[in-house]
Amino acid sequence: MPLPTGVRTAALKTTKALKTPSNHSFDHPDGRESLDRRNSSERKPSVAVMDLFRKDHGKDKRNSLSMGVGRSQSPAKSSPRNSPRLAPSKPAKMAIDMESPPLVFYGSTTQSSGALMSGSILLTVTDPEITLQSLEMHLYARMTFKRPVHKDCPACTTKDSTIFSWHFLTEPNKFHNGIHTFPFSYLLPGHVPATAHNHLGRIDYVLEANAVTSLSETIPVSRPLIVQRALQPTGDKTSVRIFPPTNLSVRVVHPSVIHPIGEFPVQMTLTGVIDNSLKNIERRWRIRRLNWKLEERSKIISAACPKHASKIGGEGKGILHEDVRTLASDDVKSGWKTDFGLEGGSIDFEWSTAIPPNAELCCDVVSPTGLEVSHKLHLEIIVAEEQTAGVGKDRAAPTGSARVLRMEFKLLLTERSGMGISWDEEMPPMYEDVPNSPPGYIRVDDFEGDLGEDEELERMRH
Ligand SMILES: [Zn+2]
Repeated sequence: MPLPTGVRTAALKTTKALKTPSNHSFDHPDGRESLDRRNSSERKPSVAVMDLFRKDHGKDKRNSLSMGVGRSQSPAKSSPRNSPRLAPSKPAKMAIDMESPPLVFYGSTTQSSGALMSGSILLTVTDPEITLQSLEMHLYARMTFKRPVHKDCPACTTKDSTIFSWHFLTEPNKFHNGIHTFPFSYLLPGHVPATAHNHLGRIDYVLEANAVTSLSETIPVSRPLIVQRALQPTGDKTSVRIFPPTNLSVRVVHPSVIHPIGEFPVQMTLTGVIDNSLKNIERRWRIRRLNWKLEERSKIISAACPKHASKIGGEGKGILHEDVRTLASDDVKSGWKTDFGLEGGSIDFEWSTAIPPNAELCCDVVSPTGLEVSHKLHLEIIVAEEQTAGVGKDRAAPTGSARVLRMEFKLLLTERSGMGISWDEEMPPMYEDVPNSPPGYIRVDDFEGDLGEDEELERMRH
């Protein structure tokens, strides 16, 4: 397979088919913002750029003829390039105001019932009156590949998927000078990946709204959304590893979830250290060294844009990049407690692991768009064998035998909960919580027969 230029080949492992997320409109993360500034100060030169960015926004196409025409504030002469003061101001401004608490998914992608987001678009009309043709907002999931298939290609670098769209106007509408609010709300589904910023790629969520006036003038606004996932701790997790042919067994206890900030404790117990199978000789293991490291594994499938798909053998394919980095580690030479008095003997060690604050952590994520980040604790214990002349004797001589016990434990790195109000706590019962049958009705039969005098009267009144 020919390697595309611009891809760091060191990280290239394999090419793998990838379902490219449905590719809706594309905008570079910073494109819209810089466009805005440019648009307000030097409108005419920006037309070509504008069209480039607008090509996917079918309804937003603006033609150069309508630009700046009919705007009362517009200066009559064409604006010189470096004169922002002469630039025509927009007839209206927009802002997105979020009212919901931070968006936090409680539980895994299969458990979370989502996060409720709500807010308003604030349209401030500065002209006496404007007519809007349309007012739309889209919620995009934006995947950014730090190692794109083609370097410097914006379409290979960023992919947007539309999660939800709002169309606030069904027909052109007039708005007077002042502030107009357009409330919106949406239950962000709990299965989508949380916002993730990794050195291989990013997952971002962004709200982008756009109003189009009757003069085809566009008023855009965007706002990023941070989506977090908090997996609930389920007590400590105990894992046991055995090392045949020895009787050695390692039990490790660590929290079920760990967090980007703060320390977490790890407990290790090594048992089966004494071998009494030989007469008058006791063989036992001692720890010589112990080292641990906390690793972050990242994986991303950089998808190609349609133009560069041929570089990697057609559309729907991507390049897999993998990376492993150590977040924290230690080489320990003492500090454990050795007890040869117990049956089989045991060695205990407890330490606390802290992730450095500058580690640029990314919580565990598995995204259908191709980014996966996971964390593992690696533990390596070097044990050396010694033997005594007689059971229970203190003096022992090394046998010369040593072993390296290697093991790894999956750790779930997740945000702390309690940053927002859980939608789960407010939501109506889930399907499985509802009883099998609906509540019964009181059976009412049609009346047949004669009514008494009073009842007859009652019926007449109805
Ligand atoms: Zn491309």
